[in-house]
Amino acid sequence: MNCGRVPQCRLRAGATVNKFIRHPWSVISPRYYSVVRGRSPFIAIIGSGPAGFYTAQRLMRKLSGTQIDMYEGLAAPFGLSRYGVAPDHPEVKECEKSFEDVAKDPNFKFYGNLSVGSRGVVGGFHGCAVRLSSLLRNYDGIVFAYGSSKDRILGVPGEDMKGVYSAREFVAWYNSHPSFSEIDFPQLREAEEATIIGQGNVALDVARMLLTPVDELRKTDMADYALEALSRSRIRRVHLVGRRGAMQAAFTRKELRELQELYPKAYLQSQHFPADLLPPKVTDRVKKRMLQTFHALREMSPSADPEAKSWSLDFLLSPTSFYGSGSVEGTAFAVNQLSDPFADNAKAIATDESVKIPSQLVFRSIGYKAVPLDGFAELNIGFDTRKGCILNDGMGRVGSTETLDEKPVAIPGLYCVGWAKNGPIGKIVNTFQDANDTAENIIADWKSGSRFLSDSQAEPPQGMSKVQEDIDTNLSDIVSWEDWVRVDTQERLEGQALGKPRVKMVAHKELSQEAKVP
Ligand code: FAD
Ligand code: NAP
Repeated sequence: MNCGRVPQCRLRAGATVNKFIRHPWSVISPRYYSVVRGRSPFIAIIGSGPAGFYTAQRLMRKLSGTQIDMYEGLAAPFGLSRYGVAPDHPEVKECEKSFEDVAKDPNFKFYGNLSVGSRGVVGGFHGCAVRLSSLLRNYDGIVFAYGSSKDRILGVPGEDMKGVYSAREFVAWYNSHPSFSEIDFPQLREAEEATIIGQGNVALDVARMLLTPVDELRKTDMADYALEALSRSRIRRVHLVGRRGAMQAAFTRKELRELQELYPKAYLQSQHFPADLLPPKVTDRVKKRMLQTFHALREMSPSADPEAKSWSLDFLLSPTSFYGSGSVEGTAFAVNQLSDPFADNAKAIATDESVKIPSQLVFRSIGYKAVPLDGFAELNIGFDTRKGCILNDGMGRVGSTETLDEKPVAIPGLYCVGWAKNGPIGKIVNTFQDANDTAENIIADWKSGSRFLSDSQAEPPQGMSKVQEDIDTNLSDIVSWEDWVRVDTQERLEGQALGKPRVKMVAHKELSQEAKVP
């Protein structure tokens, strides 16, 4: 079967994801496809988060003359660096400085407020959209760097009750994401306890934002409406609940210690903390240090002040349902045992015991999720729905849904990177490394004469100057890099006056219109 515009080998259905991982990637013979290349590639990158920018940086540095067109669905660049990283972590956003340098290269172009696939796919504003098939016709290669813009669900009764939110919604809300700025969290004004399900770094971010004194947050770029809502918050107690044990917690020690440092304003009251987790049994250095932190936390005693805020790490609990009439009043959990309390991959096994944690505000923080772009199915682009990422060879080469001689087939010219490639895992430093690896493979493929999207003997592809013929909305709504720089300058100036890094513009329209003011 051949799938239209994507140049492929003959394909045959059949491989499972497991076989795909175990089998070596089917190399498309350089001899068969060998082409003489007297020019550099023209690459479209979909997504302007860390993965997209680091890939662009490496490609332009290492393969001189490479042209990049970057497509971003939102009016502002930088993905989760702008809309995910916690406002009290400004140092993490330093990566944006090197992205700004990338954008200064004359071979780099940014097209913001322009989604690939359907309109408003990453936001509520019905900005411009372009079909993936249009990009396929007009570039040598495409890099999918579109991250993970949905979230995983638990699939337990009551999950859609009022008062149960995803951490992603809350994070995007306090970070001024245009599609989430209008959410109201009335439970902040009513509830005294909040439950966070999941024990990753996002869960810790959410807990910190709920517990940190608002005057501290006023120095950050947190949205004004969020500061206002948090200043009226009655939340005193946050439960961070994990389905496995202390040794399997997904958060990192640095982030755990940050929360610990909120003590004495916050204290730990640990339930289900496995008492036998003692240093001699744990040899791994990172785990050992984590364990020391847990033990230190264990020794903290609750504050006598009834007004004091507190938090707890509750291990070995899997949510089974949310209860309440109309809106959530609490979460029911099955108590778990671990197959091995010390193993990273220990399985949680439910016992007959159950517990309830009452709270009128619940956040599900069990990971983000990528979804296939519109057009993937018709182009046979493989997508691993279990991991929530594009099917690939681990090196960023995109795989087809179909196979040849039981081996997965690479789709020439298509690559993926970052969270779209690996699933929603990894800090920015990991995304940086991953982007470098993917970029190196693109460079190696280009230099070896492997096949890309365009036929290199013909006219070189023309990128956006041709793609724009396929865009049916007002082209002036597209945000260029120069437009963004105007918004950025304005945001920083407003922030400077208030002693903050910036005051983010919120509304999608506001962002794209401000950008157009000469
Ligand atoms: P993203 O950053 O999500 O970028 C994807 C981009 O693609 C987005 O701009 C999106 O709008 C765009 N896009 C999506 N769909 C389309 C489409 N169809 N068309 C065009 N554009 C599209 N790491 C740290 O090191 N330190 C931290 O403190 C930290 N805090 C974090 C906090 C949170 C809440 C989260 C979720 C993650 C955090 N991380 C942190 C991890 C870090 O954010 C990721 O490693 C990194 O952002 C992944 O980069 P990415 O480019 O793959 O995805
Ligand atoms: P994560 O690290 O994968 O953590 C997800 C948590 O949800 C884990 O505790 C996981 O438990 C739990 N979980 C998953 N499915 C569940 C289910 N069905 N029921 C109950 N619990 C479930 O994801 P994340 O917190 O969203 O973070 C994503 C990435 O961003 C991570 O790599 C993180 O380090 C990074 N990040 C970094 C920072 C920072 O550096 N400051 C801040 C935020 C995010 P199991 O382990 O049992 O699956």
